[in-house]
Amino acid sequence: MTNYDVIVIGAGPAGATAAAILAESDINALLIEREKLPRPKICGGAVSKRALSLLEAANIILPELKTFKKCQSMQLGTFDFESIEHLATIKFENEAAYLTDRAEFDYALVQNAITKGVELKQNLMVTNIKKENSQFIIIGDDFRAKAKYLLCADGVNGTSAILLGFRDKWNDDEVGLCIESSITDYEPPPSPLNFYFGGVKWGYAWFFDKGDHASIGAGTVLKDASNLRRLFNSFVKHSGYINTSSTENLKLNAWRIPATGGISGNFAKGNALLLGDAAGLVDPFLGEGVSYAIQSGKIAAECIINNNSDDYRKKIEEEITSNLKYAKILVKIVKLNPKRFIKLLANDNAIAMDYVKIVLGDSTYRQFLKNTFKKMVI
Ligand SMILES: Cc1cc2nc3c(=O)[nH]c(=O)nc-3n(C[C@H](O)[C@H](O)[C@H](O)COP(=O)(O)OP(=O)(O)OC[C@H]3O[C@@H](n4cnc5c(N)ncnc54)[C@H](O)[C@@H]3O)c2cc1C
Repeated sequence: MTNYDVIVIGAGPAGATAAAILAESDINALLIEREKLPRPKICGGAVSKRALSLLEAANIILPELKTFKKCQSMQLGTFDFESIEHLATIKFENEAAYLTDRAEFDYALVQNAITKGVELKQNLMVTNIKKENSQFIIIGDDFRAKAKYLLCADGVNGTSAILLGFRDKWNDDEVGLCIESSITDYEPPPSPLNFYFGGVKWGYAWFFDKGDHASIGAGTVLKDASNLRRLFNSFVKHSGYINTSSTENLKLNAWRIPATGGISGNFAKGNALLLGDAAGLVDPFLGEGVSYAIQSGKIAAECIINNNSDDYRKKIEEEITSNLKYAKILVKIVKLNPKRFIKLLANDNAIAMDYVKIVLGDSTYRQFLKNTFKKMVI
């Protein structure tokens, strides 16, 4: 059985980032992925400037990607079963995000990791994990390997967190369900990023125009998702973006997304660390998970390089979840009156730019609420 310093389960942004940083410090890392790469990933494909800055700080330089559209404005509105209302367009001074194809983006991160010395085993599903003395034994079909450290980056549907006793299956109020379709026949909207609140209690509907194709979707927390398909159909019908009034001709995808902003501080058990979606690290207001996956990958790798996995939990709390708990508060405020929130952003440029700073990685939800709380609730 081959012995590695670190085994990383899952080659999404979290796993690929961690593996690349480890390899750069000459740590012997194996990256295991159940799919054949490049694998499709159901996602809006918005990658924030925050995510790109984190990659840059980790010395991860992306090659030129085929789909990588600059976003210098966003349109906001509301929607419900009967209608959709376009309420505001907000322009950014510089691009705040890019729209990409996740298969391409994620594959570029894996290729970067391989260039730095990571060994990749793809088409290999981890089915069990055992602990023998201080080593983790990772088991797949006809496969066994062991390592001192284990990074679980196997996404929202991954089983490693359950196998290691971090948590049970997600409860219906801990994950969201999204319905999404990737389309090529559409009317390009004036802004690449389009968000519509209100039709769902948690979450929103979106239309992201990537240039050569677009992602249209809607998501809400699983416990409230019984009407999601109907809401999605209504959004497609009333949006004006799609040259069809029915969803019958669309190929629909459904996937889950963590909705908690982190799983109650439970991110590390000895040398086993939970990363990205597996740890619930997604912004519960915006649904942004790529930057937090990258950030947790970076923190995990640095803790291992410093031989201090005990620090992981504290660092995730300090750098990620202490902020995302304020995003949860924002969800509750916006839910009360989405139109009011959008109008506030549309009419007060300082507030809008304050929000954009979060996406840029230059501010936090805590700071945003501190600056705007009174204006939002009074
Ligand atoms: C519809 C939708 C839209 C979204 N839109 C956005 C967006 O626009 N911007 C944004 O920032 N975030 C978005 N997100 C969230 C984002 O996709 C995730 O937060 C992000 O992919 C998390 O990265 P990760 O590396 O933790 O996990 P993943 O990207 O899910 O990667 C996990 C990997 O682990 C592999 N794996 C799973 N089980 C095993 C196993 N047993 N053995 C081996 N490998 C395994 C999987 O195949 C996968 O490749 C969206 C999510 C959804 C559902």
